[in-house]
Amino acid sequence: MYDFYSPLRLNDIPDTSGISKDRMIAAKKQTNDLLKQAKTQAKQNTCYICKKPCTSFCNSHTIPQFCLRNIAKNGNVYYSNTILELPVLKEDKGINESGTFHLICRDCDSKVFSDYENPDNYNNKITTKMLAQMEIKNNLKNISKRLIEVNLYDLMLGIGMPDYWVESKKRVSDMDLKEYNACFEHGIKRNMKPFEGDYYVPIHIELPYTIPIAFQGAIALFNDLEGNPINEIHNLDPKYVIESVYLSVLPLKDKSVIIMFIKNGVKRYSRFFKQIKKLTETEQLCVLNYIVFAYCEDYFISPDISKDSLERLIQVAGQTTEGVLTSDHQPNLNEIFDKVSPIYNYDDRQNIPNLFLEEFKIIR
Ligand SMILES: [Zn+2]
Repeated sequence: MYDFYSPLRLNDIPDTSGISKDRMIAAKKQTNDLLKQAKTQAKQNTCYICKKPCTSFCNSHTIPQFCLRNIAKNGNVYYSNTILELPVLKEDKGINESGTFHLICRDCDSKVFSDYENPDNYNNKITTKMLAQMEIKNNLKNISKRLIEVNLYDLMLGIGMPDYWVESKKRVSDMDLKEYNACFEHGIKRNMKPFEGDYYVPIHIELPYTIPIAFQGAIALFNDLEGNPINEIHNLDPKYVIESVYLSVLPLKDKSVIIMFIKNGVKRYSRFFKQIKKLTETEQLCVLNYIVFAYCEDYFISPDISKDSLERLIQVAGQTTEGVLTSDHQPNLNEIFDKVSPIYNYDDRQNIPNLFLEEFKIIR
């Protein structure tokens, strides 16, 4: 077989110790400038929810602020780059600049998420409205990211990235945008007219302590616990829809809530849900902890976590299905599956610290 594909691991970023400080600063500045330009270009004229004209967008948090406050130390939290040690980015973030997006007006931000962003509501049953609001939030976050990326790719064309690369990245982003918009609309509808059973909740775990990690997002799982494919992540057929599962990992004041859910009627995850439901609660937490670190990049971690634990998390953090096409050979989906499946190996879950366990709980 051709060696057409080499998995990209974000923590394989080359050693920068030999690079002069001036060059590092210049690279950091160029990255920040491009990102800033892309963000400006991605700016909308109207609120994404109410569609009213908007000039001053809300600094919306992707994870409820009360969750971040529960894990922060001196007002700061770690985010994924702390673990990946990407040299060009800041290491920790103040709560106000952690994972925010600017797509909706202040009025919508204060009203639309009021059920799920109220910590008291976690003392009662999780309602369909709360799940719908999480779905809206997760998709707004993704829409914002993709809008910025599309602009960033155009800017990269200007600094010499090849046309074919920019075009293929933009094609994928456009397809993603369509899917995120459809899920966003679904959430909006369900939030306005919630019905019991709008969502299926295979996992809902409450822990009697505060875990040191917060996460909320949509994840397109690649394979199940037995290695069978779930999503063909590299399928470029415009008719093929990638289905994501939602995961919320919410540290509260004296407990934590972990919910995995999905739009009702999505069949693609049936086998995976059956497999994970058969496990003990501790094993389920172990799988979910692995999924967060192997698949996601926008989790937040308490600075209370030891350097040793962070270093062990590096083993799986920063994996991506991106890969680097290393030749002109256009691989088919089976070839890609064979290359990517060893990256998402659930056996690795035993080798990393499980931040959901009581031994890591936050003590205040
Ligand atoms: Zn609005």
